[in-house]
Amino acid sequence: MKSLEQRLEILADAARYDASCAVSVADPARSARHNELGIYESVGPDGRRLFLLKILLTNECIFDCSYCMYRRSSDVERARFSPEEVVALTLDYHRRGLIDGLFLSSGVLGSPDATMEQLIAVARSLRRDHHYFGYIHLKTIPDCADDLVAEAGRWADRLSVNIEMPRQADLDQLAPEKSLVQITRAMNVIRREIDLAQGDRLPNATSEHPDRGGRIRLPRRFAPAGQTTQMIIGATAATDADVLFAAASLYSRQKLRRIYYSAYISVDDGAQPDAPPQIARERRLYQADWLIRDFGFSVGDLTPPGAENLDLAMDPKLAWALRNPGRFPIDVNHAPKSDLLRVPGLGLRSVETILATRRRSRIALADLATMRVPLVRALPFIVAADHVPRAWGSTVVALPGLRRGWQQLELFDRAADQPA
Ligand code: SF4
Repeated sequence: MKSLEQRLEILADAARYDASCAVSVADPARSARHNELGIYESVGPDGRRLFLLKILLTNECIFDCSYCMYRRSSDVERARFSPEEVVALTLDYHRRGLIDGLFLSSGVLGSPDATMEQLIAVARSLRRDHHYFGYIHLKTIPDCADDLVAEAGRWADRLSVNIEMPRQADLDQLAPEKSLVQITRAMNVIRREIDLAQGDRLPNATSEHPDRGGRIRLPRRFAPAGQTTQMIIGATAATDADVLFAAASLYSRQKLRRIYYSAYISVDDGAQPDAPPQIARERRLYQADWLIRDFGFSVGDLTPPGAENLDLAMDPKLAWALRNPGRFPIDVNHAPKSDLLRVPGLGLRSVETILATRRRSRIALADLATMRVPLVRALPFIVAADHVPRAWGSTVVALPGLRRGWQQLELFDRAADQPA
């Protein structure tokens, strides 16, 4: 029998492969608490930095997904916790001020329902028996019963169901026991329950408190931090267009808060990707995802026919601008918000500042510099009170030197995922 510490080592290490919450391995140099096993830094739903105990309940699994190190046929060291052990561990870390919350996932042990019941037991015990008010993110086992999904959301702040692949054909190839229909059905249940809970919070709505025989009517609580998912990229021949179409559908139909992209890493003799792990591709997909969610771009804008994969050499917004010279230059003093959002170099905040500033005065280059707009990037695409680009259209964008210059800019802009 392995000790608790040995199992923690195995199951904390196993959890790092789940990217459905944004995490980085905690840096021991920054805080003493990072010396503890299983603590990861994450970004919470409100953008705050959170420290999470991120573990699996077990790395045993009845499924055989070929991209997963913990699949049934894999020869790895196995371990499992009981729900009581996870509760005790979470409370211990919490009391010692080491964590803000728990991220709990699991391999499928016995059956999807049996596994989900154990995950729920952890969250329910933390909330109901120990009055734990820290953050809880539970992984939902895709094929479990709908009422278990509904129960999980009562206790967790956030739920996630991993879609893993953008198309059924990809699942057929790598995880034939899984189906997109099952996965999206679980997402639909979460979405429905979130909608119901939000309806309950409307001014005239009430609902029965489930633990008090209906005598006290309180708003239902269901996963207030919403749902997320993870998609693995680079394990099959799916293009970026396939990935982004799936993502756009999940955002609009299931109202996902975030999709996390995870570059495929070969896990021994399993699925062999067509290309080596593509961290650059992962970054471009995050940028494209952001452009679709917040900037009004469509999947077709970013991955048109003939260019189904994003250009790894430049950000997707710049690539779109170079493909569409007829849309520029854009006058920052008159253009609608939707056009300003399409200008390379203008992010959400700078567009809002431009809209507010131009109500009072005409905007010149000095104003844009004050707003910290990266002028080198934006100048070829805009007209300002004291600026008109010298030439525009096919003459400019075809200049190889200019194109190379923008690509160089990209090299200096590796730090941020958010496009501007
Ligand atoms: S169901 Fe999850 S844990 Fe099991 S093999 Fe598939 S990806 Fe791995």
